[in-house]
Amino acid sequence: MKRIGLLGGMSWQSTAEYYRLINEAVAARLGALHSADLVMVSVDFAQIEALQVSGRWDEAGQRLADEARALERAGADLIVLCTNTMHKVAPAIEAAVSVPLLHLADATAGAVLSADLTTVGLLGTAFTMEQDFYRARLDRHGLTTLIPDAAGRAEVHRVIYDELCHGVIRDESRRRYLEVAAELVEAGAQGIILGCTEIELLLRPDMAEDVGVPLFPTTRIHALAAVDAAVDAAVDAAVDAVVDVGLL
Ligand code: GLU
Repeated sequence: MKRIGLLGGMSWQSTAEYYRLINEAVAARLGALHSADLVMVSVDFAQIEALQVSGRWDEAGQRLADEARALERAGADLIVLCTNTMHKVAPAIEAAVSVPLLHLADATAGAVLSADLTTVGLLGTAFTMEQDFYRARLDRHGLTTLIPDAAGRAEVHRVIYDELCHGVIRDESRRRYLEVAAELVEAGAQGIILGCTEIELLLRPDMAEDVGVPLFPTTRIHALAAVDAAVDAAVDAAVDAVVDVGLL
């Protein structure tokens, strides 16, 4: 099993979910008492958020690049950046380390394409919805993304920073998110990307029934992609071989 390096704390509410989901998936794959071989750095999100709002993305990139180097020094074989928004500085992180960064938008695009969909609604921070770094990456996979109108974007963004990053889950916000998602479906979205790692705290995948299209929870998708990358293919092959000879 490879060592996963989690670059988290943005916010810790969703990083805790990554930790749980990765360990659950490793246990499901390998059984017995197996758990993930994992190292984590968890930043003070207030510092990162201050850089976001003042547009100091280069500084944020250098800061996260330093943290990624620390993960590599701690033996990480791959880096998992536990936030959609900070993938804006993915190039700075990739340039700083020699191990791969498992890009969240690539993993998400893979999930959408596996569901045979091409047009998706995107919910996330204003940075993720309005800027190019994330949508362009989805576009490279052939996906068309739709985003909410200005009022919808402002509300989705506000709920992330004022509620979800504090662990506050409100029914009223859930209703508003479902309304915004419904508007995107009305506009042609065949699925909705929950493109902020905290949104799954508010909307569960089974709420797809309320929305009428599949939901793509990026924390879960990214965590499972990390386990796919970390659990040695040789282990999978060995398990398959054991199944083939009827021992399992
Ligand atoms: N975790 C969020 C995301 O996935 C928002 C926090 C941040 O700005 O990093 O985008």
